[in-house]
This record gives sequence, C-alpha cells and structure tokens, in this order.
Amino acid sequence: MIELDGATGEGGGQILRTALTLSMITGQPFRITNIRAKRPKPGLMRQHLVAVQAAAAVCNGNVGGAAVGAQTLEFVPGKIQGGQYDFAIGSAGSCTLVLQTLLPALLYAEQASLVRVSGGTHNPMAPPLHFLQRAYGRVLAQMGASIELELHRFGFYPAGGGVVSASVQPCARLRSIELMSRGERVGGFAESFVAGIPFDVAKRELDCVGRSMGWEESQLLPRGLPGEQGPGNALLLTMEYEHVTEVFAGFGEKMVRAETVAKNTVQELRQYVSSGAAVAEHLADQIMLPFALAGAGRFTTNRISQHALTNAAVIERFLPVAITFEDGGEHQICSIAAKA
Ligand code: ATP
Repeated sequence: MIELDGATGEGGGQILRTALTLSMITGQPFRITNIRAKRPKPGLMRQHLVAVQAAAAVCNGNVGGAAVGAQTLEFVPGKIQGGQYDFAIGSAGSCTLVLQTLLPALLYAEQASLVRVSGGTHNPMAPPLHFLQRAYGRVLAQMGASIELELHRFGFYPAGGGVVSASVQPCARLRSIELMSRGERVGGFAESFVAGIPFDVAKRELDCVGRSMGWEESQLLPRGLPGEQGPGNALLLTMEYEHVTEVFAGFGEKMVRAETVAKNTVQELRQYVSSGAAVAEHLADQIMLPFALAGAGRFTTNRISQHALTNAAVIERFLPVAITFEDGGEHQICSIAAKA
C-alpha cells in the first residue's frame, strides 16, 4: 500500500487525482491522509468525491472513507473496464478534473469507453473543456491516443449544469515524445463566451484582446450562449503552433471589469510567447503523467509551478521514472526518464 501525505508540497487535490489515475493503471493500492490540507476548505469536495467514485467504478475498485469533507481515504483498484459511464458532480465542480483523472486510465482498458460527466465545464482553477480538447488532447494524440471530447452544454460556477463527454479508444502503449520547441506559429484567435450576462461583455473583452495583440476582427469571436446556461463568461485565447496548441483562459467575475479579465489573460499568454517554451504552466503539469506512462520524454515550459513539482513527486511514487527540472535560461526543461 502506497502511503501519501496530502499536505506535502502544494497540498491540493492534484495529489489525489494523480494517485487515483496511477493506482488504476499500475494496480497499486494507496492510502492518503491530510487530503487537500493546504486548501481553505480541506478534505474532499464534491468534485474530488466524484473523481474517487468514478475511478472506483471504472476499475471496479474498493474505496474506504470517501465522503464530502473526508481527509483520509484508501483506494484498492481492480481491473480497468471500458464501457459507458455517466457521472454527475451535482454542483459546478469541474467535469474536466474528473476527466483528467479518468482519461489516461481508460487508455488501458481492453474496450472503448464513452464517459459523460455533468457539472462545471469552464471553471476558474481547472482546465476549460476547450483546453483539454485543443491543448492536452493534441499532445495525447501525438503520443498515439485517440480521445474525442465533446461539449454538450456549458457549465459555469456557481450554477454548473454543464455536460461533457469523452470517447476513448484503448491505447495501452503511449509513444514517448519530446516537445522541446513549439515550432512556427500557425494561428491565434480569441473567443468570449457569455451566457445570461450582457453580450457587450464579450465585445469589450475581445476589443481589449484585439488592441493588445494586434489581432483582426476575424480572430475575435464573440459567442452568445442560451441564457439558461449561465450566468457565466469565459474568455479563451488559443495559440496554434506547428507542434503544440495552447489555450489561455480568463473568467468574468462580479465586480471585475471585462477589460481586466482580458488584460490578465493576455498577460499570461505573453509570458508564454516571450519565453519561447513549447508548453505553458498548466499543460506542463498535465502532460507529465502521460509522458511518465510512456516511460520517457522531455519538454520545455515557461514555468514550473509548485503544482507541477508536487505532481512529479506523486508520479515518482507510482512509476519507475525520475522527473527532473533544469534551468534552460529563458525557459525550464522537464525530463522524464526510466529510474536508474
Ligand atoms: P483543489 O485542491 O481545489 O482540487 P488543485 O490544487 O488540485 O485544487 P489547481 O492547482 O488549481 O487544483 O489545478 C488543478 C488542475 O487544473 C491542474 O492540472 C492545472 O494545471 C489545471 N488548471 C488550472 N487552471 C487552468 C487553466 N486556466 N487552463 C488549463 N488548466 C488549468
């Protein structure tokens, strides 16, 4: 039984999600204490509980201690089973973080899977579904995985109600790849989604992005959604390169000006662009796990977050790999290699 302390490093939900994924894939049970100890409301929230229940359902595993607020649990995996699954978070908890837990594991099933998850699809502090489709999904496709993600209905915090589905083909052998450069720029565009709030918010965000980035009208796409899918607003900036696609997200909030949402999102994009790195902070922490499953790989990123360092440490507990980071001047280099 692998013993994990959920208070180490970043002390958030990622320790649990990564442990669930790798426990399912490697068959190693684990026990985690101090779950999300460094979060304002420690313990399992609905989103984490659904990730645990979904993981158990997908691999016919046994869980001890899972309930909202629980700070300790034990997970004993069984065999990963493809098929049709439907998971409801029942709040605006992030659907994409539940998918982040399940997708790599479903590659190891013998059968194809179709997973539907309802909850939040565009939440602050989680990958928007478009990020999983365009950025994370593209890397996995390069590694040989075939995953189709569909957005059926948007779900924003706090109302939730979004629906996404993932269709996953088995791929038990991920190809090891290197992402050292992003390659030539192929395109860039901004989308502002608004539901149940004035359409003008989308226009103001996009005007601001257009001015800051020097983008033309054809690259600025306001997207009005049915009011019942709101209230909510997400601004997504997508950058397409020869080897990689990145998506930067900003979320409208009460008392925060549309221009501020746009400026903050552009700033995040600019930090990435000027670094010359292949991937940005979030994609970096999310691709380490598939790279480690492939047994080796390397990539450059503009920032190694505490989140990534913590995630790397959990991955090393389950898989026979060493994950190292080195300063490459303008950017950081992450290398994953078989443990000596
Ligand atoms: P919690 O303890 O509340 O579950 P956490 O520590 O697990 O939080 P975060 O550190 O906020 O959660 O990150 C969760 C995941 O969401 C990470 O994989 C991170 O890369 C991803 N993420 C967060 N924001 C974005 C974003 N804007 N775009 C893409 N991915 C994101």
